[in-house]
Amino acid sequence: MAKAKRKKKKPLALVALGGNVLIQLGQRGTIGEQELNALEIVQRLVTMVKLNYNLVITHGNGPQVGNMLIRTEAARKTVPVQPLDICVAWTQGSMGYLLQNALLNEFWKQEMHDKRVLTMITEVLVDRKDPAFKKPTKPVGPFVTKARANELMKTGIKMVEVAGRGWRRVVPSPKPQRVIQRRTIRELALSGKIIIAAGGGGISVYTKPNGEWEGIDAVIDKDLASAWLAKEIGADVFIILTDVGQVYLNYDKPSAYGVERMTTHEAKKYIREGHFAPGSMLPKIQATINYLSGGGKRVIITRAGLLEAALEGRAGTHIVPRKEDKKWPTGTIRISSRLKSSKRKK
Ligand code: ADP
Ligand code: MG
Repeated sequence: MAKAKRKKKKPLALVALGGNVLIQLGQRGTIGEQELNALEIVQRLVTMVKLNYNLVITHGNGPQVGNMLIRTEAARKTVPVQPLDICVAWTQGSMGYLLQNALLNEFWKQEMHDKRVLTMITEVLVDRKDPAFKKPTKPVGPFVTKARANELMKTGIKMVEVAGRGWRRVVPSPKPQRVIQRRTIRELALSGKIIIAAGGGGISVYTKPNGEWEGIDAVIDKDLASAWLAKEIGADVFIILTDVGQVYLNYDKPSAYGVERMTTHEAKKYIREGHFAPGSMLPKIQATINYLSGGGKRVIITRAGLLEAALEGRAGTHIVPRKEDKKWPTGTIRISSRLKSSKRKK
């Protein structure tokens, strides 16, 4: 009798795309630019699907949500201004659409006709008592004149003056507490659908005294939200694609060097030593530690162009919970233990 073949479980990967994935530094963000950028990134993601990964994709939205706020501000005399939660939802829809359509076209070109793609409008719960609400720090949207800033401040909006450039709105950036749609995302991803979720770190909602959820003016760091989601859906690997190939120690110094592997313990030590810039690499490392200490197995931080090499263990920075995990765990994701040392930056 023929031996029954045991079906191997597909690994579940959560891939977080950097904020500049669709509008790169120096670009204006025309639709042509965004479509080309989408094509480039989805080709990498399709490779992952071919390598048999189930996939959840998250993404930043910095340039896009900034543009949405500029649009509502510029058109405020014609159509009503919309709050930040709506602007984030708009970017989840429009960026999700661009990525989704590019993925579908790529699957079609590669004759992978059974692939399904879905963008999920994702809400993330925050705590109204989070200290971030007392001290908004995250600048968003357009620069405005002092007169307009005064008008906005009368409505309770917090504005700060940026020397030489005008006034700008600052919003709280609270910690994510729960991804509301996590179970649906996990179910769909495990059944092989490619899910685009938690765009821009998710739409911030809080629980009202009567138990209902309501949108709130805040933005959630996309790396922290992605880590929560990765943890909540039980992702086997959490991959952060950004614009550097590796995490560096002594970054921006002549003595800078790339890290191939580190444990959470080492990562915490490097944080204390000040190797990671707040607002860029620091939240990625904090997100990494959150995910790994919550049961996650491995984090890879690298650039999109190095994704395939990183999955083979030849590129990127790999972060694991403990020393003994530095060997790639067999069974779920195959990674060779060879990691070439790279002293090159970017
Ligand atoms: P993303 O949109 O991918 O979140 P960020 O700009 O927030 O991009 O984060 C990536 C940036 O982090 C890199 O371009 C780099 O300038 C910066 N960075 C700060 N500290 C480090 C470090 N220690 N190693 C590598 N990159 C770092
Ligand atoms: Mg960032």
